Amino acid sequence: METAARRGALAVAAQAVARRLNADTSDYASPSLPCPRCGGPARYAGRHAKTFTTALGPLPLTRAYYPCAPCAQGFCPRDRALGVEGGSLSPAVTRMVGTAAALVSFAEASELLGALAGLPVPAKQVERTAEALGIETAEDERQQVVPAAAAEIAPTMYLGLDGTGVPMRKAEVDGRPGKQADGSSKTREVKLCTVWSAEGRDAEGVPVRDPGSVSYSAAIERAATRDTDATGSAFAQRVEREATRRGFERAPRQAVLGDGAPWIWNIAGEYFPEAIQIVDRFHAKAHLSDVAKVLYGAPSDLGDAWAKARHAELDAGQLHQIVAALAAQYRARRDPAKRAEVRKCIGYLWANRRRMRYPAFRAQGLCTSTAVVEAGCKVAIGTRLKRAGMHWTVRGANAIIALRCCKLSGRFEDFWERRAQRCVGS
Ligand SMILES: [Zn+2]
Repeated sequence: METAARRGALAVAAQAVARRLNADTSDYASPSLPCPRCGGPARYAGRHAKTFTTALGPLPLTRAYYPCAPCAQGFCPRDRALGVEGGSLSPAVTRMVGTAAALVSFAEASELLGALAGLPVPAKQVERTAEALGIETAEDERQQVVPAAAAEIAPTMYLGLDGTGVPMRKAEVDGRPGKQADGSSKTREVKLCTVWSAEGRDAEGVPVRDPGSVSYSAAIERAATRDTDATGSAFAQRVEREATRRGFERAPRQAVLGDGAPWIWNIAGEYFPEAIQIVDRFHAKAHLSDVAKVLYGAPSDLGDAWAKARHAELDAGQLHQIVAALAAQYRARRDPAKRAEVRKCIGYLWANRRRMRYPAFRAQGLCTSTAVVEAGCKVAIGTRLKRAGMHWTVRGANAIIALRCCKLSGRFEDFWERRAQRCVGS
């Protein structure tokens, strides 16, 4: 009864809206209008019918139609006013598609829209719509850089930088060097910037991330700035925008967290020279565990015990003891691959030693690892883009990443408000 009544009520509402819109013929303004593509005159050719998919169900509308002969394409002024130009989904349905596709796969989003809203939107249409919407949110992110209000800036602000590989379609990685046995690559690196505060403390007094304080911005794009470049790399500019929006560089105390990757510290040093640099403890430990795997093979109790001892030394800030343990390994091993791994790890510890003063950071009440950055990669990228059978184009991945970051950062509502205003304004 419930379901049938809902369906009936929606159908009645759809009829009422269709009647009202179809009775209003004010979208016929004059016998000829300038074509939005070429600017030439497009002559009125009667009212054309089209059925749109709306939150109320199918909505048959007739609209004034102006074909342009040179462009071999026509337009309906009402479609633009209603925000349905070039498609068949209403703004409310487009928003539902965006919400679902930001969270789950296109096929699952299609299924959810059918099951929850009774809307038939095939997976292919979900994909097309979500991708177009994602490109809009990406553009919106570049345009909307309103500096944070002073009240929104915590005494200590954190900025995390990280990269994660996303599986790509073959054509998108052809000729790119990678980690496959034959030197090819199956993935492209998504670079992620996340900003948060951690004023709260847990029972042991350790800073914990403030709920709702996390924002994300990410894309597959270049992070390194060449000496000849007049502006920063695309990713460096993204980081700057996010930092401005969150008031990161205006916070009394700033910390940049990342793994050991040089591009991270290049951006941190160049754009936020005041910020304290911290190697995310989670990453540093993962790095030592990887070394243990190379030395002892995995799984191995000996290797696990070795890694555990190094993790404890890391927490205690005893980097020299870690180096001593690595040097002992170097002397004991003959395998060149294992020796190389040990040498690399010593280099990593040396290069990042000032970023691993964990006891000092703790004493200053700084957050050194809540695995926020790593979790950010999983939440913002992994759970949506790195699922079995998924293969992306750069364009498609960047669109869905933009859509997802917009949603996860609490900017989706504002985006829709601006979008609706654009329709009204045009
Ligand atoms: Zn034209």
